[in-house]
Amino acid sequence: MITNEILLEGPATGRVDAILGPMGEQGLQEQRPDDAVRHLAPPELWDELVDEAVGEVRVIHRHTKFAAPARFAVLSSSSSGNSSVILHQTSSGTRATLIDCGLSPKRTNELLETLGASIDCIDRIVMTHFDSDHFNSSWVSALPDHARFVVHRGHRGVAGRRGALTRRTDVFDDTFELAHGVRGRAILMKHDDLGASAFRFDFAMPGGRTRSLGYATDIGAPSQALARTLMGVDVLAIESNYCPVLQRESDRPIYLKRRITGGSGHLSNGQCASLVRAIGPRRAVVLLHLSRDCNTPEAALLEHAPELEAGLYDLVVASPDAATEPIPLTAD
Ligand SMILES: [Zn+2]
Repeated sequence: MITNEILLEGPATGRVDAILGPMGEQGLQEQRPDDAVRHLAPPELWDELVDEAVGEVRVIHRHTKFAAPARFAVLSSSSSGNSSVILHQTSSGTRATLIDCGLSPKRTNELLETLGASIDCIDRIVMTHFDSDHFNSSWVSALPDHARFVVHRGHRGVAGRRGALTRRTDVFDDTFELAHGVRGRAILMKHDDLGASAFRFDFAMPGGRTRSLGYATDIGAPSQALARTLMGVDVLAIESNYCPVLQRESDRPIYLKRRITGGSGHLSNGQCASLVRAIGPRRAVVLLHLSRDCNTPEAALLEHAPELEAGLYDLVVASPDAATEPIPLTAD
């Protein structure tokens, strides 16, 4: 009896097909069910061919170079909790990559549900750093069994102390594969003692094109290296933490004001706007991590007035209370 199993996934997953044929007396009889033919990507998009015999069945996997269609949303952003999501639309449904997990798993699930996803969709959580507004330790036990933490090498110590360094943790340096067809590039920025990772994610598209997401929060001060890394991204999520006047006039203790504004804390609205100008995002900007006490959405937006007037890109201020409207990352 020849077993014959058809594994078929469309290009949306990045994994094109598996054509299986029975290994009979005449050798392989390749089968091409209609669905398989319909889902085949053109050969120039194949970056890997795995051809292996599994029992009596020949398996051919062709992996495409391009990423699944993806969207980006900020679930919540403030000094009480930060978490964003990349939603990957695969043939087996919606999958999710969280960037930071500063909300409780329950609240994260509620916000994911407003976007048609849930905690069970999470495949990985990529961490900028481990401050408590970016890492809620309930995730150590709440992470779905198949999912992984993705952590900068410089954060292994703190990840271990917070319980997030397990056999389900991937460690990266400067470049890494986030998901199939999605390359991550990280740059460690000054933030308190251990720094925070800022990211550029490049999504491979058919025809050799890419689309990109920049993500920069808790980055201390603008830097040319960061501007170069994020240059020309399609979508940019970046912190716009405080208004200098409100910060100065607040009744916060001096040491806290110094920590925030001293170059290893957060970006002011003006620093954010000048860094955005240097980066030159193509389509959309999302402002992150506005201080509740020392900022307002109006003050943050005012710094981007010339670009808004010129219609250079869409601008959204992330809220602590609701997820932003998802922004397509892989749209033409
Ligand atoms: Zn923070």
